[in-house]
Amino acid sequence: MTKKVNLYFCVIILLFVSLLSGCSKKKEPVTDSAYMLGTHLNITIWTENEDEGKKVIKECFKRISEIEKKMSVNIKDSEINNINKNAGKEFVKVSAETSKVLNKALKYGEISNGAFDLTVGKFVKLWGIGTYNERIPSKSEIDDALKYVDYKLLKKDEKNGYKLDKEGMRIDLGGIAKGYAADEAYRILKSNGIENAVINLGGNIFTLGTRPDGEIWKIGIQDPFEPTGTYMGIVQFSDKAIVTSGNYERFFIKNNKRYHHIIDPKTGYPSENGIISTTIITNHSIDADALSTSVYILGVKKGLDLIEKLDDVECIIVTKNRKVYLSSGMKDKFKIKNNSFQIEN
Ligand code: FAD
Ligand code: MG
Repeated sequence: MTKKVNLYFCVIILLFVSLLSGCSKKKEPVTDSAYMLGTHLNITIWTENEDEGKKVIKECFKRISEIEKKMSVNIKDSEINNINKNAGKEFVKVSAETSKVLNKALKYGEISNGAFDLTVGKFVKLWGIGTYNERIPSKSEIDDALKYVDYKLLKKDEKNGYKLDKEGMRIDLGGIAKGYAADEAYRILKSNGIENAVINLGGNIFTLGTRPDGEIWKIGIQDPFEPTGTYMGIVQFSDKAIVTSGNYERFFIKNNKRYHHIIDPKTGYPSENGIISTTIITNHSIDADALSTSVYILGVKKGLDLIEKLDDVECIIVTKNRKVYLSSGMKDKFKIKNNSFQIEN
Protein backbone atom coordinates (compact mmCIF):
# COMPACT_ATOMS: atom_id res chain seq x y z
CA MET A 1 0.00 0.00 0.00
CA THR A 2 1.31 3.46 -0.89
CA LYS A 3 1.67 6.14 1.74
CA LYS A 4 -1.27 8.08 0.16
CA VAL A 5 -3.67 5.08 0.25
CA ASN A 6 -2.57 4.42 3.83
CA LEU A 7 -3.53 7.98 4.78
CA TYR A 8 -6.98 7.66 3.13
CA PHE A 9 -7.48 4.40 4.96
CA CYS A 10 -6.64 6.02 8.31
CA VAL A 11 -8.98 8.98 7.66
CA ILE A 12 -11.86 6.62 6.78
CA ILE A 13 -11.25 4.58 9.94
CA LEU A 14 -11.11 7.77 12.02
CA LEU A 15 -14.38 9.02 10.49
CA PHE A 16 -16.00 5.66 11.15
CA VAL A 17 -14.79 5.59 14.77
CA SER A 18 -15.94 9.16 15.38
CA LEU A 19 -19.35 8.37 13.84
CA LEU A 20 -19.67 5.32 16.05
CA SER A 21 -18.71 7.22 19.17
CA GLY A 22 -21.22 9.93 18.13
CA CYS A 23 -23.90 7.26 17.92
CA SER A 24 -23.07 5.69 21.23
CA LYS A 25 -22.97 9.01 23.10
CA LYS A 26 -26.46 9.53 24.49
CA LYS A 27 -28.08 12.95 24.61
CA GLU A 28 -28.46 14.06 28.22
CA PRO A 29 -30.61 16.90 29.57
CA VAL A 30 -28.87 20.14 30.46
CA THR A 31 -30.96 22.69 32.32
CA ASP A 32 -30.55 26.19 33.70
CA SER A 33 -32.78 28.81 35.31
CA ALA A 34 -32.84 32.57 35.71
CA TYR A 35 -35.11 35.29 37.04
CA MET A 36 -35.93 37.98 34.48
CA LEU A 37 -39.00 39.73 33.03
CA GLY A 38 -40.42 39.59 36.58
CA THR A 39 -40.70 35.80 36.36
CA HIS A 40 -38.88 32.46 36.54
CA LEU A 41 -37.22 31.27 33.35
CA ASN A 42 -36.08 27.72 32.71
CA ILE A 43 -34.52 26.14 29.64
CA THR A 44 -33.77 22.43 29.25
CA ILE A 45 -31.99 21.06 26.21
CA TRP A 46 -30.85 17.55 25.29
CA THR A 47 -27.27 17.39 24.08
CA GLU A 48 -24.17 15.21 23.92
CA ASN A 49 -22.00 18.10 25.06
CA GLU A 50 -22.87 19.44 28.50
CA ASP A 51 -20.43 22.39 28.44
CA GLU A 52 -21.60 23.56 25.01
CA GLY A 53 -25.20 23.09 26.13
CA LYS A 54 -24.71 25.28 29.19
CA LYS A 55 -23.09 27.95 27.02
CA VAL A 56 -26.03 27.98 24.58
CA ILE A 57 -28.56 28.36 27.41
CA LYS A 58 -26.53 31.25 28.85
CA GLU A 59 -26.61 32.85 25.40
CA CYS A 60 -30.43 32.64 25.46
CA PHE A 61 -30.57 34.31 28.89
CA LYS A 62 -28.22 37.06 27.69
CA ARG A 63 -30.54 37.69 24.74
CA ILE A 64 -33.59 37.81 27.01
CA SER A 65 -31.81 40.31 29.25
CA GLU A 66 -31.17 42.54 26.19
CA ILE A 67 -34.87 42.35 25.28
CA GLU A 68 -35.86 43.23 28.85
CA LYS A 69 -33.59 46.30 28.82
CA LYS A 70 -35.34 47.57 25.69
CA MET A 71 -38.94 46.62 26.39
CA SER A 72 -39.54 46.65 30.16
CA VAL A 73 -41.59 49.40 31.79
CA ASN A 74 -39.74 48.62 35.01
CA ILE A 75 -36.41 49.80 33.59
CA LYS A 76 -36.18 53.57 33.63
CA ASP A 77 -34.43 54.19 30.32
CA SER A 78 -35.91 51.31 28.29
CA GLU A 79 -37.01 52.16 24.76
CA ILE A 80 -40.64 51.70 25.80
CA ASN A 81 -40.26 54.08 28.74
CA ASN A 82 -38.63 56.61 26.42
CA ILE A 83 -41.75 56.53 24.25
CA ASN A 84 -43.91 56.82 27.40
CA LYS A 85 -41.91 59.79 28.73
CA ASN A 86 -42.31 61.57 25.42
CA ALA A 87 -46.05 60.91 25.09
CA GLY A 88 -47.79 63.94 23.59
CA LYS A 89 -44.39 65.45 22.75
CA GLU A 90 -42.21 63.84 20.11
CA PHE A 91 -41.36 60.72 18.14
CA VAL A 92 -38.81 58.38 19.73
CA LYS A 93 -36.67 56.13 17.54
CA VAL A 94 -36.44 52.52 18.74
CA SER A 95 -34.45 49.45 17.69
CA ALA A 96 -35.71 47.25 14.87
CA GLU A 97 -36.75 44.52 17.31
CA THR A 98 -38.75 46.81 19.60
CA SER A 99 -40.40 48.16 16.46
CA LYS A 100 -41.23 44.59 15.43
CA VAL A 101 -42.90 43.86 18.78
CA LEU A 102 -44.78 47.20 18.73
CA ASN A 103 -46.07 46.49 15.22
CA LYS A 104 -47.20 42.99 16.22
CA ALA A 105 -48.97 44.45 19.24
CA LEU A 106 -50.71 46.99 16.98
CA LYS A 107 -51.71 44.17 14.63
CA TYR A 108 -53.29 42.25 17.53
CA GLY A 109 -55.06 45.45 18.57
CA GLU A 110 -56.68 45.44 15.14
CA ILE A 111 -57.57 41.76 14.85
CA SER A 112 -58.91 41.54 18.41
CA ASN A 113 -60.98 44.66 17.84
CA GLY A 114 -59.17 46.45 20.67
CA ALA A 115 -59.36 43.63 23.25
CA PHE A 116 -55.56 43.52 23.09
CA ASP A 117 -54.34 47.06 23.62
CA LEU A 118 -50.64 47.86 24.07
CA THR A 119 -51.55 51.25 25.58
CA VAL A 120 -53.17 49.54 28.60
CA GLY A 121 -50.24 50.85 30.70
CA LYS A 122 -52.27 53.56 32.46
CA PHE A 123 -54.60 50.87 33.88
CA VAL A 124 -51.73 48.52 34.73
CA LYS A 125 -50.18 51.30 36.81
CA LEU A 126 -53.48 52.32 38.40
CA TRP A 127 -54.32 48.80 39.59
CA GLY A 128 -50.68 47.93 40.45
CA ILE A 129 -51.52 44.22 40.47
CA GLY A 130 -48.51 42.15 41.51
CA THR A 131 -46.80 45.22 43.04
CA TYR A 132 -46.78 46.74 46.56
CA ASN A 133 -49.21 49.40 45.29
CA GLU A 134 -52.08 47.13 44.28
CA ARG A 135 -55.49 48.64 45.02
CA ILE A 136 -58.97 49.15 43.59
CA PRO A 137 -58.97 52.51 41.79
CA SER A 138 -61.94 54.86 42.23
CA LYS A 139 -64.59 55.07 39.51
CA SER A 140 -63.42 58.57 38.57
CA GLU A 141 -59.80 57.39 38.24
CA ILE A 142 -60.94 54.63 35.89
CA ASP A 143 -63.12 57.04 33.88
CA ASP A 144 -60.22 59.43 33.53
CA ALA A 145 -57.72 56.69 32.55
CA LEU A 146 -60.06 55.43 29.80
CA LYS A 147 -59.13 58.57 27.82
CA TYR A 148 -55.50 57.42 27.74
CA VAL A 149 -56.00 53.87 26.48
CA ASP A 150 -56.34 53.48 22.74
CA TYR A 151 -53.76 51.70 20.58
CA LYS A 152 -54.85 53.76 17.57
CA LEU A 153 -53.22 56.78 19.23
CA LEU A 154 -49.74 55.29 18.84
CA LYS A 155 -48.32 56.96 15.75
CA LYS A 156 -45.29 55.75 13.83
CA ASP A 157 -42.99 57.26 11.23
CA GLU A 158 -40.84 55.68 8.52
CA LYS A 159 -37.73 55.34 10.70
CA ASN A 160 -38.88 53.15 13.62
CA GLY A 161 -40.05 56.30 15.40
CA TYR A 162 -43.10 56.07 17.70
CA LYS A 163 -45.19 58.69 19.46
CA LEU A 164 -48.17 58.41 21.79
CA ASP A 165 -50.64 61.14 20.90
CA LYS A 166 -51.54 62.24 24.44
CA GLU A 167 -49.32 63.04 27.39
CA GLY A 168 -50.09 60.51 30.14
CA MET A 169 -50.52 57.52 27.81
CA ARG A 170 -48.36 54.46 28.60
CA ILE A 171 -47.37 51.47 26.51
CA ASP A 172 -47.05 48.16 28.41
CA LEU A 173 -45.78 45.10 26.53
CA GLY A 174 -46.46 42.67 29.42
CA GLY A 175 -48.94 40.76 27.26
CA ILE A 176 -46.60 40.13 24.31
CA ALA A 177 -42.86 40.71 24.92
CA LYS A 178 -42.35 37.49 26.91
CA GLY A 179 -43.56 35.70 23.78
CA TYR A 180 -40.99 37.51 21.66
CA ALA A 181 -38.28 36.56 24.18
CA ALA A 182 -39.30 32.88 23.91
CA ASP A 183 -39.09 33.08 20.10
CA GLU A 184 -35.58 34.48 20.38
CA ALA A 185 -34.49 31.70 22.77
CA TYR A 186 -35.93 29.15 20.29
CA ARG A 187 -34.03 30.78 17.41
CA ILE A 188 -30.73 30.68 19.31
CA LEU A 189 -31.13 27.03 20.32
CA LYS A 190 -32.05 26.02 16.80
CA SER A 191 -29.16 27.91 15.21
CA ASN A 192 -26.81 26.10 17.60
CA GLY A 193 -28.00 22.75 16.31
CA ILE A 194 -30.22 21.86 19.29
CA GLU A 195 -32.93 19.41 18.26
CA ASN A 196 -34.80 18.78 21.50
CA ALA A 197 -35.59 21.44 24.10
CA VAL A 198 -38.23 22.94 26.35
CA ILE A 199 -38.20 26.69 26.96
CA ASN A 200 -40.33 27.89 29.86
CA LEU A 201 -40.52 31.64 30.42
CA GLY A 202 -42.88 31.94 33.37
CA GLY A 203 -45.52 29.72 31.79
CA ASN A 204 -44.80 30.62 28.15
CA ILE A 205 -43.71 27.17 26.96
CA PHE A 206 -41.92 26.47 23.70
CA THR A 207 -41.14 22.87 22.78
CA LEU A 208 -38.34 22.58 20.24
CA GLY A 209 -38.47 19.48 18.04
CA THR A 210 -39.71 16.24 19.58
CA ARG A 211 -38.79 14.60 22.84
CA PRO A 212 -35.24 13.14 22.65
CA ASP A 213 -36.76 9.64 22.20
CA GLY A 214 -38.66 10.90 19.12
CA GLU A 215 -42.03 10.96 20.91
CA ILE A 216 -44.40 13.95 20.91
CA TRP A 217 -44.15 16.29 23.90
CA LYS A 218 -46.94 16.10 26.47
CA ILE A 219 -47.57 19.44 28.18
CA GLY A 220 -49.75 19.78 31.28
CA ILE A 221 -52.38 22.53 31.37
CA GLN A 222 -52.54 24.13 34.80
CA ASP A 223 -55.68 23.50 36.85
CA PRO A 224 -56.74 27.11 37.55
CA PHE A 225 -58.26 26.08 40.91
CA GLU A 226 -55.23 24.20 42.24
CA PRO A 227 -51.63 25.06 43.20
CA THR A 228 -49.05 25.48 40.42
CA GLY A 229 -48.06 22.14 38.91
CA THR A 230 -51.51 20.49 39.23
CA TYR A 231 -52.76 19.71 35.74
CA MET A 232 -56.37 19.52 34.57
CA GLY A 233 -55.44 18.25 31.11
CA ILE A 234 -52.61 17.35 28.77
CA VAL A 235 -51.87 18.62 25.27
CA GLN A 236 -49.70 16.72 22.83
CA PHE A 237 -47.67 18.78 20.38
CA SER A 238 -44.14 18.99 19.07
CA ASP A 239 -42.30 22.11 17.97
CA LYS A 240 -45.00 24.54 19.15
CA ALA A 241 -45.39 27.56 21.39
CA ILE A 242 -47.94 26.99 24.18
CA VAL A 243 -48.94 30.08 26.15
CA THR A 244 -51.52 30.41 28.92
CA SER A 245 -53.13 33.53 30.40
CA GLY A 246 -54.97 33.01 33.65
CA ASN A 247 -56.60 34.93 36.47
CA TYR A 248 -54.64 32.84 38.99
CA GLU A 249 -51.23 34.18 37.96
CA ARG A 250 -51.29 37.75 39.28
CA PHE A 251 -54.16 38.92 41.41
CA PHE A 252 -55.29 40.23 44.77
CA ILE A 253 -58.49 39.50 46.67
CA LYS A 254 -60.54 42.21 48.36
CA ASN A 255 -63.95 41.62 49.97
CA ASN A 256 -63.98 38.09 48.55
CA LYS A 257 -63.52 39.37 45.01
CA ARG A 258 -60.53 38.53 42.84
CA TYR A 259 -58.88 41.35 40.89
CA HIS A 260 -56.43 40.04 38.31
CA HIS A 261 -53.98 41.51 35.79
CA ILE A 262 -55.78 41.03 32.47
CA ILE A 263 -57.59 44.31 31.96
CA ASP A 264 -60.48 44.91 29.60
CA PRO A 265 -59.40 48.12 27.81
CA LYS A 266 -63.04 49.07 27.18
CA THR A 267 -63.96 49.13 30.91
CA GLY A 268 -60.65 49.58 32.73
CA TYR A 269 -61.50 46.66 35.07
CA PRO A 270 -60.06 43.11 35.16
CA SER A 271 -61.82 41.13 32.44
CA GLU A 272 -64.92 39.30 33.80
CA ASN A 273 -66.70 37.07 31.32
CA GLY A 274 -66.55 33.67 33.00
CA ILE A 275 -63.15 32.71 31.55
CA ILE A 276 -60.38 31.85 33.99
CA SER A 277 -57.71 30.61 31.60
CA THR A 278 -56.91 30.59 27.91
CA THR A 279 -54.16 28.55 26.30
CA ILE A 280 -52.97 29.16 22.75
CA ILE A 281 -50.89 26.72 20.72
CA THR A 282 -49.18 27.98 17.58
CA ASN A 283 -45.86 28.31 15.77
CA HIS A 284 -44.55 31.52 17.36
CA SER A 285 -44.71 32.49 20.99
CA ILE A 286 -45.22 36.20 20.25
CA ASP A 287 -48.54 35.32 18.54
CA ALA A 288 -49.53 32.83 21.23
CA ASP A 289 -48.84 35.41 23.95
CA ALA A 290 -50.86 38.22 22.34
CA LEU A 291 -53.69 35.82 21.47
CA SER A 292 -53.92 34.28 24.95
CA THR A 293 -54.52 37.75 26.38
CA SER A 294 -56.88 38.70 23.51
CA VAL A 295 -59.08 35.58 23.76
CA TYR A 296 -59.25 35.96 27.55
CA ILE A 297 -60.82 39.38 27.09
CA LEU A 298 -62.94 38.55 24.02
CA GLY A 299 -64.79 35.75 25.85
CA VAL A 300 -65.68 32.23 24.67
CA LYS A 301 -67.72 32.96 21.56
CA LYS A 302 -65.75 35.84 20.04
CA GLY A 303 -62.47 34.26 21.17
CA LEU A 304 -63.18 30.93 19.42
CA ASP A 305 -64.43 32.75 16.32
CA LEU A 306 -61.14 34.64 16.12
CA ILE A 307 -59.02 31.50 16.59
CA GLU A 308 -60.95 29.57 13.91
CA LYS A 309 -60.19 32.35 11.42
CA LEU A 310 -56.42 32.06 11.97
CA ASP A 311 -54.22 29.42 10.34
CA ASP A 312 -52.27 27.01 12.55
CA VAL A 313 -53.62 28.44 15.80
CA GLU A 314 -55.43 26.34 18.41
CA CYS A 315 -56.87 27.17 21.81
CA ILE A 316 -58.21 25.77 25.06
CA ILE A 317 -60.53 27.96 27.12
CA VAL A 318 -61.43 27.09 30.72
CA THR A 319 -64.35 28.83 32.46
CA LYS A 320 -65.24 29.44 36.11
CA ASN A 321 -67.91 26.72 35.94
CA ARG A 322 -65.30 24.14 34.86
CA LYS A 323 -66.31 24.02 31.22
CA VAL A 324 -63.57 23.54 28.62
CA TYR A 325 -63.91 24.92 25.09
CA LEU A 326 -61.56 23.68 22.37
CA SER A 327 -60.82 25.01 18.90
CA SER A 328 -61.59 22.53 16.11
CA GLY A 329 -57.97 21.34 15.69
CA MET A 330 -57.61 20.55 19.40
CA LYS A 331 -60.20 17.80 19.74
CA ASP A 332 -57.76 14.87 19.38
CA LYS A 333 -54.78 16.66 20.93
CA PHE A 334 -56.18 17.47 24.37
CA LYS A 335 -56.97 14.95 27.12
CA ILE A 336 -58.80 15.83 30.32
CA LYS A 337 -57.00 14.56 33.43
CA ASN A 338 -59.54 15.77 35.97
CA ASN A 339 -63.11 14.73 35.33
CA SER A 340 -64.59 17.63 37.27
CA PHE A 341 -63.93 19.58 34.06
CA GLN A 342 -66.30 19.07 31.15
CA ILE A 343 -65.50 19.52 27.47
CA GLU A 344 -68.23 21.50 25.70
CA ASN A 345 -68.90 20.68 22.07
P1 FAD B 1 -50.62 37.76 29.87
O1 FAD B 1 -52.07 37.53 29.74
O2 FAD B 1 -49.81 37.32 28.72
O3 FAD B 1 -50.40 39.31 29.98
C1 FAD B 1 -50.98 40.09 30.98
C2 FAD B 1 -50.17 41.31 31.04
O4 FAD B 1 -50.38 42.03 29.81
C3 FAD B 1 -50.56 42.26 32.16
O5 FAD B 1 -49.76 42.03 33.28
C4 FAD B 1 -50.33 43.60 31.50
O6 FAD B 1 -48.97 43.93 31.57
C5 FAD B 1 -50.68 43.38 30.05
N1 FAD B 1 -52.10 43.53 29.76
C6 FAD B 1 -53.18 43.51 30.59
N2 FAD B 1 -54.32 43.70 29.90
C7 FAD B 1 -53.96 43.83 28.60
C8 FAD B 1 -54.69 44.08 27.41
N3 FAD B 1 -56.00 44.21 27.42
N4 FAD B 1 -54.00 44.19 26.26
C9 FAD B 1 -52.65 44.07 26.23
N5 FAD B 1 -51.91 43.85 27.33
C10 FAD B 1 -52.55 43.72 28.50
N6 FAD B 1 -43.13 41.85 36.26
C11 FAD B 1 -42.61 42.21 37.46
O7 FAD B 1 -43.22 41.96 38.48
N7 FAD B 1 -41.41 42.84 37.54
C12 FAD B 1 -40.69 43.14 36.44
O8 FAD B 1 -39.61 43.71 36.55
C13 FAD B 1 -41.22 42.78 35.16
N8 FAD B 1 -40.56 43.07 34.02
C14 FAD B 1 -41.07 42.69 32.80
C15 FAD B 1 -40.38 43.00 31.64
C16 FAD B 1 -40.87 42.63 30.40
C17 FAD B 1 -40.12 43.00 29.15
C18 FAD B 1 -42.08 41.87 30.34
C19 FAD B 1 -42.62 41.40 29.02
C20 FAD B 1 -42.78 41.58 31.48
C21 FAD B 1 -42.30 42.00 32.72
N9 FAD B 1 -42.99 41.73 33.91
C22 FAD B 1 -42.48 42.12 35.11
C23 FAD B 1 -44.35 41.22 33.82
C24 FAD B 1 -44.52 39.78 34.17
O9 FAD B 1 -43.64 38.91 33.54
C25 FAD B 1 -45.96 39.50 33.84
O10 FAD B 1 -46.41 38.52 34.70
C26 FAD B 1 -46.26 39.07 32.47
O11 FAD B 1 -45.86 39.96 31.50
C27 FAD B 1 -47.73 38.80 32.35
O12 FAD B 1 -47.77 37.75 31.54
P2 FAD B 1 -48.75 36.59 31.74
O13 FAD B 1 -48.24 35.51 30.90
O14 FAD B 1 -48.95 36.31 33.19
O15 FAD B 1 -50.14 37.19 31.23
MG1 MG C 1 -50.31 37.08 26.73
